[in-house]
Amino acid sequence: MHAGDGHVNVSPRDRPLTLEAKPIIVNALSVDVEEYYHALIFREGTNGAAGGGLESRVEASTERILALLASGDAKATFFILGQVAAAHPALVRKIAGEKHEIACHGDRHELVSRQTPQEFRADVRHAKAVLEDITGEPVVGYRAPNFSIGRAQAWAYDILLEEGFRYDSSIYPILHDRYGDRAAPRFPYEVWRKGDQKLVEFPIGTTRLLGVNFPIGGGGYFRLLPLALTRLGIRRVNAHERQPILFYFHPWELDPDQPRPSMPWRHRLRHYVGLQREEAKLSRLLRDFRFSTVRRILGMP
Ligand SMILES: [Zn+2]
Repeated sequence: MHAGDGHVNVSPRDRPLTLEAKPIIVNALSVDVEEYYHALIFREGTNGAAGGGLESRVEASTERILALLASGDAKATFFILGQVAAAHPALVRKIAGEKHEIACHGDRHELVSRQTPQEFRADVRHAKAVLEDITGEPVVGYRAPNFSIGRAQAWAYDILLEEGFRYDSSIYPILHDRYGDRAAPRFPYEVWRKGDQKLVEFPIGTTRLLGVNFPIGGGGYFRLLPLALTRLGIRRVNAHERQPILFYFHPWELDPDQPRPSMPWRHRLRHYVGLQREEAKLSRLLRDFRFSTVRRILGMP
């Protein structure tokens, strides 16, 4: 409220301009770099058998993402699978060379919930070392395959800290049949502390309506739902809560020509829905909002 709301007459030129000129919120953008056959729905639908003889397509679809980001003047964090990095080191160098952030998506896309703490440590240690060997830069961000760090996997935070990670992005605070913790905080917070070291969690973007969190942070929902809902949701969070959202997608979501082995219709629907329109939708999103890396949004040097 300013003086103009009372009885004092204020001419327009006396109104404080700062009321109109709130700084634009920059959101965080992320890409989980994996092959189409690493996706859980694809694996389950094909009983895991398809992973062996299928062609690699990650390089071409990630190149398309890099071109898309360059044309939209956006930066992103690439959570790269160790296996993919080892097979495509030039791709990792290219992503880093275009000033995006290199982060870790584990090594073999094994769910954290299916690993022992020892197996998890070996998996993230190996993947982090592969990425750091390629770029020569420290990797500080981690995202679990399929957001598989739930409350029962809180032990993983200790390990991430000990292995040199400073933030995690493995929580989607929604109700979902496979992942999600709808009671989790919706914006970046300190999830774990050990001595003077802390691990920050940056959850995937949601908007809250009538007490329910709605997914506006990408993945299958973005492909399934009209673009307008995501745009409205992001605007709402940026304008009313003055918070950035974190958005994520995969290279295989921009690849409608990927191999389509037979699988049950439910799996087929969830894996392939919306692939044709994904690139156009993303391009529109990049025009409407400003995006940068997770590390930069968290203010980590
Ligand atoms: Zn993944």
